[in-house]
Amino acid sequence: SPRAVLRLEGGSAVGSDGIRAMMESALTARDRVGVQDFVLLENHTSEVAFIENLRKRFKENLIYTYIGSVLVSVNPYKELEIYSKQHMERYRGVNFYEVSPHIYAVADNAYRSMRTERRDQCILISGESGAGKTEASKKVLQYYAITCPASEHVQTIKDRLLQSNPVLEAFGNAKTLRNDNSSRFGKYMDIQFDFKGAPVGGHIINYLLEKSRVVHQSHGERNFHIFYQLIEGGEDDLLRRLGLEKNAQQYQFLVKVRDGPHTLECPSVRKSRGGNCPKVSSINDRNDWKIVRKALSIIGFTDDEVEELLNIIASVLHLGNVQYGGEDSGSAYITTETQIKYLARLMSPLNQEQAASARDALSKAIYGRTFTWLVNKINDSLAYKDDSFNSKNASVIGLLDIYGFEVFQNNSFEQFCINYCNEKLQQLFIELTLKSEQEEYEAEGITWEPVQYFNNKIICDLVEEKFKGIISILDEECLRPGDASDITFLEKLEDTVGGHAHFLTHKLADGKTRKVMGREEFRLIHYAGEVNYNVNGFLDKNNDLLFRNLKEVMCMSENKILTQCFDREELTDKKRPETAATQFKNSLAKLMEILMSKEPSYVRCIKPNDAKQAGRFDEVLIRHQVKYLGLMENLRVRRAGFAYRRRYETFLQRYKSLCPNTWPNWDGRLVDGVSTLVKHLGYKPEEYKLGRTKIFIRFPKTLFATEDALEV
Ligand code: ATP
Ligand code: MG
Repeated sequence: SPRAVLRLEGGSAVGSDGIRAMMESALTARDRVGVQDFVLLENHTSEVAFIENLRKRFKENLIYTYIGSVLVSVNPYKELEIYSKQHMERYRGVNFYEVSPHIYAVADNAYRSMRTERRDQCILISGESGAGKTEASKKVLQYYAITCPASEHVQTIKDRLLQSNPVLEAFGNAKTLRNDNSSRFGKYMDIQFDFKGAPVGGHIINYLLEKSRVVHQSHGERNFHIFYQLIEGGEDDLLRRLGLEKNAQQYQFLVKVRDGPHTLECPSVRKSRGGNCPKVSSINDRNDWKIVRKALSIIGFTDDEVEELLNIIASVLHLGNVQYGGEDSGSAYITTETQIKYLARLMSPLNQEQAASARDALSKAIYGRTFTWLVNKINDSLAYKDDSFNSKNASVIGLLDIYGFEVFQNNSFEQFCINYCNEKLQQLFIELTLKSEQEEYEAEGITWEPVQYFNNKIICDLVEEKFKGIISILDEECLRPGDASDITFLEKLEDTVGGHAHFLTHKLADGKTRKVMGREEFRLIHYAGEVNYNVNGFLDKNNDLLFRNLKEVMCMSENKILTQCFDREELTDKKRPETAATQFKNSLAKLMEILMSKEPSYVRCIKPNDAKQAGRFDEVLIRHQVKYLGLMENLRVRRAGFAYRRRYETFLQRYKSLCPNTWPNWDGRLVDGVSTLVKHLGYKPEEYKLGRTKIFIRFPKTLFATEDALEV
């Protein structure tokens, strides 16, 4: 109950010296720690009150708060003593409202719904970089690993599920300015449970790895963790076999390029080759190497496979050190001596700039495809292989840890894709939450007024519609031979969607120009706010091309992983490969299908400050996130209906002592018992409704008064 939880959260503040003192201190506790569910806020339309409640709780280390069943989580940036085995036990099989809000409650609730209703679940975790999405998803996984029943086989699967994290983080995460362990890919993971509720398998889908990071990073950022782990932690003879030196400074992809006679490459690349920060205080690469190495074994990689994998990582570093000089004729020659002599032959028809960008394209392709191979390999090891097991009978809980809405100083193709993804997730949220609210009222025979909300379908259409959506236009420009460029793409956009209510460029309808926008930008008015995108590089990134002869060389490689990554069929296939944006669009469409078939739970993560510091609550930053996570709207929807709903037996059980007619037992129909009870309590007709199996209470204060009566 809310009051029980208040007591729990308020700690010792609630004394036992007389009823008055108890009630007063309960109120003080509420004052101090805020409300555990935003629907209980007196002034629920006020953003100020909302943020004040978050702040109060944050100061008391209460990082979790609900909006109905949505969990809002604020990153504490410090270890809290709330994730022990005892804490897990506290949430097992317990009703949502009887314990304080927690990620374990969400995990447990999803698990129980899956078990009792036999319905697949998904937990959708969103928030900006550094807000705590990946940590939250790991907590959910740990909760299942510890609390679910296990057999010997299940233990292996549990271990593998858990160990997939350090591996994927090593290859897919990197230190950025926003987060020392930032996921540079989106991840959806299915956990499959058998009829006994034991985890028996898993499956991971990865989205849009930021592979440009392989060849350059902004100042103060790093390449993917694995490069540093290998160099710092790799055993001497391993490094010798790979031809690597124990010094990250030796590798151009990891350090800043010094301008010199051999590095006259395209200026954009020279500007920021490596992030030049091999050491990060919060990261112990040597230790992490051991963890990753062990995890690879637990997942089932043989030593040979690991060596082949690391060989690829090493070759990317070697490739990065290939430098080009210019000849008078204009063609490039390789100035560094490496074992990859074939590159000289392949790249000599190119000029220096072309050769450098071909090298980078190859490095990115190798790394990106190896990452996908790694995910597939993990999936093989998580697949349930027992013949007696029919995966159709399995129930599933899906976990989505995917990039939140991004607005930077300079936004490019990547932000465009990421923000489009968030539009799709918002669509899903609208469909599933509003739909499920509506469905519950219908199922219970309750009439209600639907709330008004902004439907962002119009923005999704603007991006993805066939023939006239932004992605279609981009693809068209990518296909068009001749003078197609980023700028012609922008012009086409102006011609085609220029009049759209959510699209703007610097051009005004009357032929004048909008001064606040650059000439190479377009602006999208997203559901979460406005973002300007610079079209520079859109065509290249969308084409994502690799020279055919480089592909041929890769197919000839003796490295088994590489030959799996570069399929010969690709060379004979006449069809043009799908563009990056179209691939992403299609994978999102599939994701939406997967999620639509499941019952969702939401975790909304908030980052309290940009300094990665504990105890700092930056209101401006938080207000911004509350806005683009759509929390106020979420609350409005929740409040527009009924703040509380309880099954008749639960309600009666809890409050029957408040009415002589229902105490100690009610013999008649449950609905009549509840009706008798609430009439006795003085509920007014507009305050509640009786459905088929549940009582719906409109205002939180009604329930609070009842709870207070219980205390007295
Ligand atoms: P990105 O989008 O960049 O991947 P993210 O939302 O996944 O960001 P996390 O990596 O989960 O962010 O969290 C960033 C850091 O914040 C963690 O490395 C950890 O130090 C801290 N952190 C997050 N959640 C918690 C928590 N519940 N308790 C303690 N520390 C946390
Ligand atoms: Mg993450």
